[in-house]
Amino acid sequence: MSEFDGLAAIVTGGASGIGLATATLLAARGARVACLDLNPEVGEPLVGIRADVTDDQSIRAAVAAAADTFGGLDLVVNNAGIGAQGTVEDNDDAEWARVFDVNVQGMVRTTRAALPYLRRSSNAAIVNVSSIAATAGLPQRALYSTTKGAVLSLTLAMAADHLPEGIRVNCVNPGTADTPWVGRLLAKADDPEAERAALEARQPSGRLVSADEVAAAIAYLASPLAAATTGTSLAVDGGMHGL
Ligand code: NAD
Repeated sequence: MSEFDGLAAIVTGGASGIGLATATLLAARGARVACLDLNPEVGEPLVGIRADVTDDQSIRAAVAAAADTFGGLDLVVNNAGIGAQGTVEDNDDAEWARVFDVNVQGMVRTTRAALPYLRRSSNAAIVNVSSIAATAGLPQRALYSTTKGAVLSLTLAMAADHLPEGIRVNCVNPGTADTPWVGRLLAKADDPEAERAALEARQPSGRLVSADEVAAAIAYLASPLAAATTGTSLAVDGGMHGL
C-alpha cells in the first residue's frame, strides 16, 4: 500500500527536469500520472498529453483528457515554467507578458480547469513550483524573480479560497536544480565545466539540488501525510534560503 494508491495526478511541464522527476515519483508511489507538456514524450506508466499552459483551450482539453482517462483528478502539480535573465532595462513589455503568461497565468489556467474535478476528490491537493529567486534578491533575474514571487502570493490566495472545499494548496521553492534547464544555461558558457564548478561553489551545500530532491518535497506536500498543511512554501535549496 503506497500513499498515492487510487489517486490521479497531472503535472504541467511533466516531460522534463523537476516535472518528470515528480511524475515518476508519484507513479512509483501508486498514482496514475499525466504529464501535460508542449512536448509530452514520456515513457510508461506515465501518460503524455500535449498542452500549452498559455492556451486556455489547450489546457482545458488536456485536463479533461487526463480526468477522463483516470476517472477523476486528485493532484495538480503546477510546474511548467520558463526563465528570463536581466534587469528591468533588459526585458521589454512583451517579454514581461510572455514570461508571466507561462509562469503565473499558466498556473491559474491549469488550476481553473482542474478545480471542478478536484472538488469531487477526497484527497485534493495542488503544489505550485516557485523558486528561491522569489525571495533571494538575485541579480539579473528581475522578471523571473517577480513571476516566482507572484507564485507565492497565488499559493496563499488559492489556499485560503479553496480550503473550505477541502483542497490544499502549497508550493516548493527550489534552489538551483540540476535539470535540462540548467544544462542549457551552462552549455552557453565558454567553458561549461568550469561554469558548473563555479555554480556549485556558489551553493552553500557545494552542490546543486537534484530534481529528485525537489520531487520528494512536492510528493510530500501532495500526499495525505501533509493533510494539515496548506498555504505554505517549502524551500529545497541546499541552504541558500538562509543567505
Ligand atoms: P525544464 O526546462 O527542464 O522543464 C520545463 C518543462 O516545462 C519542459 O518540459 C517544457 O516543455 C515545459 N513547458 C514550458 N513551457 C510550457 C508551456 N507553455 N506549456 C506546457 N509546458 C511547458 O525546467 P526545470 O528546471 O525542470 O523547471 C521546472 C520548474 O521549476 C519551473 O517552473 C522553474 O521555474 C522551476 N525552478 C527550476 C529551478 C532550476 O534550477 N532548474 C530552480 C527553481 C525553480
